[in-house]
Amino acid sequence: MWGIVFFVDSPTTRRVTVFDTTLRDGEQTPGISFKFEQKLEIARQLSSIGVHAIEAGFPASSDGERETVKAIADLGLESIVCGLARSRKEDVDACLDCGVDMVHVFIPTSEVQRLHTIKKSCEEVLEITGEIVSYVRDHCDLCMFSAMDATRTDLDYLVQVFRTAADAGATILNVPDTVGVYTPTTMKALITRLAGEIDCPLDVHCHNDFGLAVANTITAVEAGASQVQVTVNGLGERAGNADLSSTVMILESIFGMQTGIRKEKLVETSRLISRYSGIAIPPTYPIVGENAFSHESGIHSHGVIACAATFEPGIMTPEMVGHRRKLTLGKHVGRHAVRQMLDEVHLQPSDSQLDRIVEKIKFISVKGKRVTDADLYEIAESEMGIGNGGRVIEMEELAVMTGNHLIPTASVKARICGKESIYSATGTGPVDAALKAVLGMLPMKIQLKEFSIEAISGGSDAIGHVTIAVEDEHGRIFDASASGDDIVLASAEAMINALNILHRLDPAEGKNR
Ligand code: MN
Repeated sequence: MWGIVFFVDSPTTRRVTVFDTTLRDGEQTPGISFKFEQKLEIARQLSSIGVHAIEAGFPASSDGERETVKAIADLGLESIVCGLARSRKEDVDACLDCGVDMVHVFIPTSEVQRLHTIKKSCEEVLEITGEIVSYVRDHCDLCMFSAMDATRTDLDYLVQVFRTAADAGATILNVPDTVGVYTPTTMKALITRLAGEIDCPLDVHCHNDFGLAVANTITAVEAGASQVQVTVNGLGERAGNADLSSTVMILESIFGMQTGIRKEKLVETSRLISRYSGIAIPPTYPIVGENAFSHESGIHSHGVIACAATFEPGIMTPEMVGHRRKLTLGKHVGRHAVRQMLDEVHLQPSDSQLDRIVEKIKFISVKGKRVTDADLYEIAESEMGIGNGGRVIEMEELAVMTGNHLIPTASVKARICGKESIYSATGTGPVDAALKAVLGMLPMKIQLKEFSIEAISGGSDAIGHVTIAVEDEHGRIFDASASGDDIVLASAEAMINALNILHRLDPAEGKNR
């Protein structure tokens, strides 16, 4: 339940609250439609990471939306649950029927939107604003009011609209940069003026049309806004909204403010939304992208091994956001990184052997091929003349059944440390079933973290190249690959290759590389 005081500024740390609109603006991302169960799961996740308010949806837009918002309101989350409404009583009633904690009413205020959408005069908009906010407050404790397209609204008029809303009892005023045309300079001027003239907390909703959504959001906070509207992974209409992770980390790590967000859950949350939305995050995405804490170049890896802050922000670490630091093998790799990675599996090449290993990694990656951990160990062992490091698991047989009327099932027979083992499992598809069957043979818990498949040649008989990354019980992640014209078999072999790395790792170390 909400009930907590909204905007407490302790004498030392300023508190900024987070309003997440992944389920409303984020769902308006072209091509995204979350399923009912997914929406409930997203709401639970947002609440569990400490989001102050969740915009659950727009109840008046459809029966389905109404059901969803009601179901989310019924979850009894810690977060405030908010419903969106146009400035019409029937929209507000639809929100109230859902049992939301807060109603968010909006009305267009810019001339272009007033004339072309609602076709109302300035005076009419003022009148509607006062009436609708009073109506909400008669029935609900919390009312957010938005002047849609605020940043393209005549400033004196905007002040009048917001003052009207505040006088009618709005609990917070939202300033939307609806089409993303502001810059930090204009945002600073606007929020400074509004904060100076209106006695009501301010919130901002920034769009990323020019890539400035996060910059504008944090500038609004510097200028006096007490709440930020964000979406996970920056989802939203057109180019999206301000990204939750970046906004939170800037406010906390750079500004030293408090958002109440459990930052160590940021990566997990981003991945959940990525999975449900079907929109992958680019590897270079800030904070949560796969490469956010990865180092390939020799100079950087060398620095990071000695002291992470050399080539990372330092005020933000991978652990803080639930990420991991990773040294990757590629054409820029250096000797220090390779030595460290080999040392972790107790391979200690001589200097000249190390030179040749590094050369070989560079040679392979220049040709565009990813060098996995399994490749590295194989290269090192052959250069060091110690043969294969002993594979403890060898697959002997794999049988898979799949079809439109049966549950995909896989059986695998393998030799583990010389002993024969057989296991069967079902899955959502033949690859899933095969991987589960392989993993099921092992006593320890191994999690699949990454799976990618690439068709090397064209045609339905193309060679598939499967790369996987798995995480062991100690949080260590390692990758391996396999190729073949049967992708199910190649997937199982890639998993076996990864599992063969396991026995090289010292269980006591339990560290991440
Ligand atoms: Mn929006």
